[in-house]
Amino acid sequence: QELPVSLIFSRSKVYMADLESGLHYLLRVELATHQTLEGEELKTFKDFVTVVAKLFPGRQSVVKLLETLLEWLVSLPLEKIPFDAILDLVNNKMRISGMFLSDQLQWVGCQGSRVGLRGYPCSLWTLFHVLTVQAASRPDALANTGLEENPKAVLQTMRKYIVNFFGCQECGKHFEEMAVASLPQVKSVDQAVLWLWRKHNQVNGRLAGTMSEDPHFPKTQWPSPDLCPTCHEEQDGIHVWNEDKVLMFLKQHYGAANISPKHMY
Ligand code: FAD
Repeated sequence: QELPVSLIFSRSKVYMADLESGLHYLLRVELATHQTLEGEELKTFKDFVTVVAKLFPGRQSVVKLLETLLEWLVSLPLEKIPFDAILDLVNNKMRISGMFLSDQLQWVGCQGSRVGLRGYPCSLWTLFHVLTVQAASRPDALANTGLEENPKAVLQTMRKYIVNFFGCQECGKHFEEMAVASLPQVKSVDQAVLWLWRKHNQVNGRLAGTMSEDPHFPKTQWPSPDLCPTCHEEQDGIHVWNEDKVLMFLKQHYGAANISPKHMY
């Protein structure tokens, strides 16, 4: 089924509609494949909610929902939590005012030209790039969470989320291999931003020309020279990245000021 690429968007922007649609899908659809959360899964989910509640640069109603979810998870003495209880809270059945997460899927920068392409996995990458940039620009945001001393907090949370919950198990296996090989070398929040960029490009390189590629959105080494000319250099006729410029570009591109509210429900 062909879908026209219908919503006008800019490749130099990040869209809040993608981030909120991704959170909706994660909390109401992906998590629903687990009837109860316990042990490692529950710990992973708590860390994920901590990181998004503290770092998500979103609408107040969404941040309030994430903060309420976090307070509830932290206060519960339970070792097992049924998914339905999480869903009740996310759906606001407890009638706590001022918190809300839309249940519409609206892909903008992540729209695909066919059903099954782009969408959720695109939004998950986008969310984690945004979170690594927030962690680097707001060093106190994770204070009193137990994650504040850890420059890899966002990446470790992503790694555990992907392994325990991400629907694509093959993706989890690949991501885990990359993390084992090079995550220990990350020593600062800036290196964490660059690590995720480098690994995402590695995945793009592996998937170029495969079935996961949307022909309207070919997988390339990102950012392209037209998005960031100074990120690209040549040494002895060979392309090299200027990583200082890439870091500056990532902080601008995934920074809160570059997130557009267009096409949001
Ligand atoms: P995506 O790769 O999803 O990227 C989304 C957007 O991020 C792009 O449109 C671009 O604006 C920006 N971007 C691109 N590259 C970078 C970069 N290097 N740094 C920062 N921003 C960038 N699919 C598989 O078939 N096999 C796998 O093994 C696999 N592993 C995955 C592992 C993870 C952790 C995740 C989240 C997804 C994985 N996927 C895998 C899905 C795949 O990577 C894409 O998300 C999916 O194919 C949709 O691609 P896309 O064109 O929307 O771009």
